[in-house]
Amino acid sequence: MKSKLIILKLGGSVITIKDKPLTPNVPAIKRLAKEIADSRISQLILVHGGGSYGHPIAAEYKIAEGFREKGQIIGFSKTHNAMVSLNMLIIEALLDEGLPSISMAPSSFIVTRHGRIRDFHRDPIEQALKLGFIPVLYGDAVFDYEMGFAILSGDQLVSRLAVEFNAGRIIIGVDVNGLYTADPKTDENAKLIPCATLSDLKSFMGGVSGSKSIDVTGGMMGKIFELILPVMNGVEVFIVNALKPGNIYKALKGEETVGTRIIKG
Ligand code: ADP
Repeated sequence: MKSKLIILKLGGSVITIKDKPLTPNVPAIKRLAKEIADSRISQLILVHGGGSYGHPIAAEYKIAEGFREKGQIIGFSKTHNAMVSLNMLIIEALLDEGLPSISMAPSSFIVTRHGRIRDFHRDPIEQALKLGFIPVLYGDAVFDYEMGFAILSGDQLVSRLAVEFNAGRIIIGVDVNGLYTADPKTDENAKLIPCATLSDLKSFMGGVSGSKSIDVTGGMMGKIFELILPVMNGVEVFIVNALKPGNIYKALKGEETVGTRIIKG
C-alpha cells in the first residue's frame, strides 16, 4: 500500500526570477509557504530547484562536466553556497508559517556515480519524517566517484525520494500549466495533456513508438525521464503551475485543478 507521503518539487522557475542572477521570487516563496501550511499535510518532503541561484555559477565553472582542473573547485563551493542561500529563504518562509522544516544538504549524504545517485544515506530523512519534520532538499553540487563532482538535479532527487520512501504522490510545481504537446512558451499551438500513462511517458521519450506528435524539450524532458521510475512503482504524479495562486494548495489537498496527471495506467 502506498503511504500518504507527498514529495513536492518547487521548480527554480517558480522560486527565482530565472533571467536575473541570484534573484529570488520572494512573493511566490511566501505564498507557497502559506499554501503548504494551509493544506495541513503532515507527511511531506520538499525539494526545490536552483533557477537563477545554482545554474549560472555551475555553468560558469562547468561543474556538471566533472572535475577537470583546480580552478573549478572554488566554483563547486560557490554553486553549493548559492543553493544554501536560496534554501535558507525557503526554510525561513516555512518557519514563518510555523512549519517544522529542516534543511538537508544533498551533498552531505549523497554521492553519485557518473551523475546518478549511488550512495544515499536515508536515515536522517527517515528519522525526521517519523518526528513530523518537513525535510527540505534541493538540486545540489555533489561528489561523484567517477567524475570528482557532478550536478544532482532536484528532479533526480524527487524520483529517488519517492521510490526510497514509498511516496503516494509527487507534485511538480513549474511555471507552465503542465505537460503540453510542445513547449507552450515557444509553440502557440501547444495543447495541455490532462492525463498521461507510463507508456505515454516512454513514447514521449522516444522509447516505445518514437512518437513525434509530442515535443518535450529542456527542463521538462529531464522531468519526464526521471518520473518514469516512480510512476512504474505506482506513485501518482501531478504537474501543476505553481505560479498560479492556490494551485499547490489544491494539489496537496488532492482537489481538482488544471495540470497534468501521470498514472501507471
Ligand atoms: P524548473 O526550473 O521549474 O524545474 P524547467 O524550466 O527546467 O523547470 O522546465 C519547465 C519548462 O520546460 C517549461 O517552462 C517549458 O518552457 C519547458 N518545456 C519544454 N517542453 C515542454 C512541454 N512539452 N510541456 C511543458 N513544458 C515544456
